[in-house]
Amino acid sequence: MKVRKVPQRKCIVCQKTLSKREMLRVVRTPEGEVELDPTGKKNGRGAYICGDAEAFKKARKTKAFERALKVSLTPEQHDSLEQSFLAVQDKFKSVSCGKPDEQAE
Ligand SMILES: [Zn+2]
Repeated sequence: MKVRKVPQRKCIVCQKTLSKREMLRVVRTPEGEVELDPTGKKNGRGAYICGDAEAFKKARKTKAFERALKVSLTPEQHDSLEQSFLAVQDKFKSVSCGKPDEQAE
């Protein structure tokens, strides 16, 4: 049996479990800022979300970041998270937040 172990992370919005590289890490820094962590190496409490712009909209609606990171976010902070995501989204495999895995073709 050759099962390659890929770290799995759960999306805080849709609860789907995906490999780490398909997920985006959002971190609450020791200073209390909430920021995107595309490298996955920042210190702080982390939460994972699908690499999908929709995921950010849903997270905002459902307060998923607030619950996962135990912070409250202003609309400005949500905006800046979304903006940061848009800047790096090409690096992520596109996955659709909330939808079950789809077969291409
Ligand atoms: Zn998701």
